[in-house]
Amino acid sequence: MNLPPLDDLEDIAGGRVLARLDLNVPVRDGEVLDDTRIIAALPTLRWLLERAGGVAACSHLGKAAGEPDVAFSLAPVAPVLESALGRPVRFVPDCLTPPAEFVTGSLLLLENLRFHPGEKANDPGFAARLTKPYSHYVNDAFGTAHRAHASVEAAPRSYPQGRKAAGFLMEREVAALSRVVDDPEQPFVAVVGGAKVSTKTAPLEALVGRVSALLIGGGMANTFFLAQGLEVGRSLVEGEMVETARAVLAAAAKRGIELLLPEDVVVADAIDDPQRVAVVARDAIPSDLMVVDIGPAARSRYREILAGARTVFWNGPMGVFEVADYAAGTLAVAEALAASAAFSVVGGGESVMAIRQAGVVDSIDHVSTGGGASLKFITGETMPAIAALES
Ligand code: ADP
Ligand code: MG
Repeated sequence: MNLPPLDDLEDIAGGRVLARLDLNVPVRDGEVLDDTRIIAALPTLRWLLERAGGVAACSHLGKAAGEPDVAFSLAPVAPVLESALGRPVRFVPDCLTPPAEFVTGSLLLLENLRFHPGEKANDPGFAARLTKPYSHYVNDAFGTAHRAHASVEAAPRSYPQGRKAAGFLMEREVAALSRVVDDPEQPFVAVVGGAKVSTKTAPLEALVGRVSALLIGGGMANTFFLAQGLEVGRSLVEGEMVETARAVLAAAAKRGIELLLPEDVVVADAIDDPQRVAVVARDAIPSDLMVVDIGPAARSRYREILAGARTVFWNGPMGVFEVADYAAGTLAVAEALAASAAFSVVGGGESVMAIRQAGVVDSIDHVSTGGGASLKFITGETMPAIAALES
């Protein structure tokens, strides 16, 4: 892949830049709850603000449905961005109507792109109106790179090379994930967990063709258990995904790679306030209980395999880690990754929360800011926003 870098932008001095960022942060009652994505956008913004004549930042936030909705306003992001940047940030209440005058060195923050239906529809007319005031375009929103939306697809297509670039975050994400996708150093071990097989079918199918071992955990392991003819009691399962699980098991067997399911599991009668919690072998799950975590034998087996890896990709917790009693499996994987010499990449909303909870963020080579985008990247499929930047 040949992402155009910021350094290759031509005539940036005096230019006006539209910077597509991922400022899709959690907001409650007008307050930003987590500023991770805001902080991640700073290097690119600083670089642009020091060089360009004017910079406007744009993003989507939440599931706005094509019309203004105060619950999804980016207004609460402005003061957080301003203090993080140490430069003035002026909020613009409609992304299509920036002020006629730009102030060099200060930032405009445009209101939620998804307040217009053209954003999700990838409408070229909307993209043309959005980009009209700007001589340059920069995309640093890796978290949205897997979607063909107007601000990341139609918009960059209308700029020639030299006038568009990937920001530093986009560059870092693509570099780290490429190292995992293109010719990873072996042994390459993937750990995949989380609630469901259905949200990760394509990545599972792609990974099984590239890894030397695939470690499965979380709720999705239950569907694999069903595929092996085991009983899973009251566990979360996806009956319609049993065939998919069977196909992944068959592909692993055919390629001769290790596909590991937890040999033992933690079971409980309820997620909250359980009366019964036990560790059982995977072929002895009681009919009245549900699987909530991988067991201690599985933990040490997974740790052992991760210790020998040279490349690791992890997506999805091993259990209901939000409940302290069911977090051991997820924390064991987090710690194993932190301790390992492997090049390690973690993607996924909850997985990233778990490595924060484990306090090991600094020991992981790359923590992706894009859950869905990193999973899509792993499949090796074309990312619309990246293709548009390269066009
Ligand atoms: P990520 O965001 O990292 O991609 P997912 O969204 O796929 O992960 O899944 C995360 C969720 O899966 C967590 O909220 C966790 O509680 C849930 N989960 C993990 N294991 C189980 C299980 N055994 N039963 C039910 N839910 C589970
Ligand atoms: Mg999630």
